[in-house]
Amino acid sequence: MSDITTITAAIGGVKTALDIVKTLYDLDVATQQAELRAKLVELREALTDAKGALIDSQELLREKDSEIARLHGALAFKGKLVRHVNAYYETNEEGEPAGIAYCPRCEDVDHRAIPMIKNGNRTMCCPECKTAIPFQRTPEERRKEGR
Ligand SMILES: [Zn+2]
Repeated sequence: MSDITTITAAIGGVKTALDIVKTLYDLDVATQQAELRAKLVELREALTDAKGALIDSQELLREKDSEIARLHGALAFKGKLVRHVNAYYETNEEGEPAGIAYCPRCEDVDHRAIPMIKNGNRTMCCPECKTAIPFQRTPEERRKEGR
């Protein structure tokens, strides 16, 4: 259920409860006690439904807050990554791609930095999407190897 739907349900429940309260105010004192009890049962049900819808809304908002926080973190990290040949890397002090390779597909499509795993000496593979790319060395690695 979307948060708009649950909030709409909560508003509907509160409106029903307020209508019932108005009816109770308008009841003639001489009215039968049974009618009063029936209206109180309706009131309790309307408030219970509204409470449930508000709890659902609260949970959905928490999930959205969590996703927003994750995306903020991903965006901040994305700003640190640079593309080098077929993958993304963080940069060293010289601004060169360095360290572990991140999956290009997961970064470009899902905005998630997923470290690639070396698959033998020739390829690297993403554990999430299974994208495989030829193994490549960063400029820093080539320098350390004297190439
Ligand atoms: Zn991937």
